[in-house]
Amino acid sequence: MKDSRVGFLYDPLVLEHQPPEGHPERPARVREIYAHLEHSGILKRLTQLPVTPATREQLERIHTPTYLDRVERVIARGGGLLDAGDTVASPGSWAAVTTAAGASLGAVDAVLSGGLDAAFALVRPPGHHAPPDSAMGFCILNNAAIAAAHALAQYNLSRVLLVDFDVHHGNGIQDAFDDSPHVLYFSTHQSPAYPFTGAVDETGVGAGLGYTVNVPLPPDVGDTGFLEAFETVLRPLARRFQPEMVIVSAGYDAHWRNSRYVAGIRERVTVRGLSALAAFLLEISNTYCPGRLVGILEGGYDLDSLAWGVLGTLQVWLGDTDIEDPLGPPPTPAREPNITPLLAEIKRVHGL
Ligand SMILES: [Zn+2]
Repeated sequence: MKDSRVGFLYDPLVLEHQPPEGHPERPARVREIYAHLEHSGILKRLTQLPVTPATREQLERIHTPTYLDRVERVIARGGGLLDAGDTVASPGSWAAVTTAAGASLGAVDAVLSGGLDAAFALVRPPGHHAPPDSAMGFCILNNAAIAAAHALAQYNLSRVLLVDFDVHHGNGIQDAFDDSPHVLYFSTHQSPAYPFTGAVDETGVGAGLGYTVNVPLPPDVGDTGFLEAFETVLRPLARRFQPEMVIVSAGYDAHWRNSRYVAGIRERVTVRGLSALAAFLLEISNTYCPGRLVGILEGGYDLDSLAWGVLGTLQVWLGDTDIEDPLGPPPTPAREPNITPLLAEIKRVHGL
């Protein structure tokens, strides 16, 4: 069978954002993923696309001018702390973050101008914690939100489904589209965990009421639970919303190996499970908006599971069914918590 056409956007400029030694959000994350993709041979099957840095106008669709000025100023002075603790800029950070945002909205351009089945932006730093007016949780520019805003503004779309399977809640995306019925934000995340938002009753405000759907999962949820959440909540939600485009905030830190690197994280998803989520999202896109599927890298701090996870996503989007998972299941198998009552409650809250 012929491969699907999957676009791939990567520019080594994203390596120029260099937090201090020992920071988990390090250039090696993306460097390792790229090396792994190259080694696997998959790059030859992808349509590699050029990356242009995002313009000020494109960034201002999400971020306030005051915030952007401040970030540029701090970086021009050589870098420094951008939030209360863990988001640090280096001299190369402005080039990196505008390139990451540019690759993300470039992926939108690529799928909306036709000719592709999906596109993936391999970027860093991640974006989903950054609200419109501040940096937060390793995130400076909210790549996925900027991409969604671009789809609405540039292509006149009115229904973008933004699915965030990173193990953390994407509070910044939620903030950006809280009052908008045009972006349906669906997030699965561990709770309690950083950033301690994303409760079931956070459902949007005003015209956006009902267009924020949070699935806060208890610790120890694995492949079965994540897929159950997609099947039980996301499937009927997508049917009701009828998306014109699907954007994925693809974070790989629900993988069990991240518990060693990310404080408090205990979810137990495998590479096979993450690939099944990617396959599910391809199916949603194929059902409602064929060829309009964009993935944007968010978190994931264990290098091996990150590399295999991204490879798995690209493979299923290319149409492969046999996904390699050399990391396997967690070494200490445990029974997954029963989340059926939680999912029933979420369905009730959202009238599904
Ligand atoms: Zn995360």
